[in-house]
Amino acid sequence: MEKIKMTTPLVEMDGDEMTRILWKLIKDELLLPFVDLKTEYYDLGLNYRNETNDQVTFDSAEATKKYGVAVKCATITPNAARMPEYNLKEMWKSPNGTIRAILDGTVFRAPIIVKGIEPYVQNWKKPITIARHAYGDVYKGVEMKIPAAGKAELVYTNESGEETRELIHNFEGAGIIQGIHNLNDSIESFARSCFNFALDTKQDLWFATKDTISKKYDHTFKDIFNDIFEAEYKEKFDAAGIEYFYTLIDDAVARVMRSEGGYIWACKNYDGDVMSDMVATAFGSLSMMSSVLVSPKGYYEYEAAHGTVQRHYYKYLKGEETSTNPIATIFAWTGALRKRGELDNLPDLQAFADKLEKACIDTIENGEMTGDLYLISTLENKKKLNTQDFILAVRKTLESLL
Ligand code: NAP
Ligand code: MG
Repeated sequence: MEKIKMTTPLVEMDGDEMTRILWKLIKDELLLPFVDLKTEYYDLGLNYRNETNDQVTFDSAEATKKYGVAVKCATITPNAARMPEYNLKEMWKSPNGTIRAILDGTVFRAPIIVKGIEPYVQNWKKPITIARHAYGDVYKGVEMKIPAAGKAELVYTNESGEETRELIHNFEGAGIIQGIHNLNDSIESFARSCFNFALDTKQDLWFATKDTISKKYDHTFKDIFNDIFEAEYKEKFDAAGIEYFYTLIDDAVARVMRSEGGYIWACKNYDGDVMSDMVATAFGSLSMMSSVLVSPKGYYEYEAAHGTVQRHYYKYLKGEETSTNPIATIFAWTGALRKRGELDNLPDLQAFADKLEKACIDTIENGEMTGDLYLISTLENKKKLNTQDFILAVRKTLESLL
């Protein structure tokens, strides 16, 4: 068989631990035999980030602006324990945070649904896509420990030097404060990404914040969404037969639990971080959640929603058998390849991405799966495979589809 051609490279961001092991297996077994893979490679593994003082992360984000489509492996966000483990010069920031800050835009996360993995919430019949705002709030926060009594204020100084002040608190003893921000531009592009994605996928869009408590900060999100919807999207939504509605976050949580799914739930940065983990877990497995960052300028970065699966990696290092689920990482590749195919008009590449996804789903629905799914699958004839054997089983299904 002749390999499928590509014309523009994908930005390939390699990563850490068990997902780095998966990355190589996926390329060797599921991509390189079938696709004449063109990538521009960036090693975001923690060792190389440390060696380059994190420059490689910035370079990979810039490359994404140049080429338009990236695929990313999960990466370690260093904490205190990682400092001696990797002999780090600094506690480098989260690569995802850095990339999101450069590309702006919105992260859409959706569960990959297969027969046999039933959601814990029995009334959920369709995927719930979480749209997470990818800029600002606590992820760009500055914090201070207040050691003792004193006054803390918010101060804004305009370009002519005039100050506006707001008292945060008159401390009588020790405490803590945090300063967070967001940008109207970023919220506007968040809103537009969500409205466009809803139209693309013909799903209702829900948006929720805590505007009753946060009467300026969260209320601004609500107002911007509403203004853009009324001015630019209302007619398109009516024509598509879909709905946009805003509600308080507490009410949204209650409605989500009672719903049957099949909509996009737009969340502020922190809500999206937490709620996507909850939704993924309730749909069955964190390892079955795909993720794409869509920037307002039309750049796409695909990845798995889960982390580097550290616990499995330590087992792997000791030579023990692992059964780590590669599905979300494979779907990151298929998402990126399909988008590349769409942009470069390569129908064969798009068809390959579809078939590889089908091969993943068919393999699991035929009863071959990794340990995380084996534990919860309701299929009767199920078999648990190790990391490598599962990828080989997907390859076999793929070969029968090509
Ligand atoms: P994690 O890698 O998402 O894994 C948490 C647990 O979920 C695992 O221990 C495993 O449970 C299960 N799991 C997740 N993905 C799985 C898969 N593909 N197959 C099978 N089981 C899976 O989170 P973490 O262990 O808390 O974090 C590890 C590192 O990942 C941290 O350094 C963190 O900074 C980083 N991280 C990166 C990203 C990213 O790059 N996007 C996102 C989140 C976290 P069992 O151990 O019970 O089998
Ligand atoms: Mg999270």
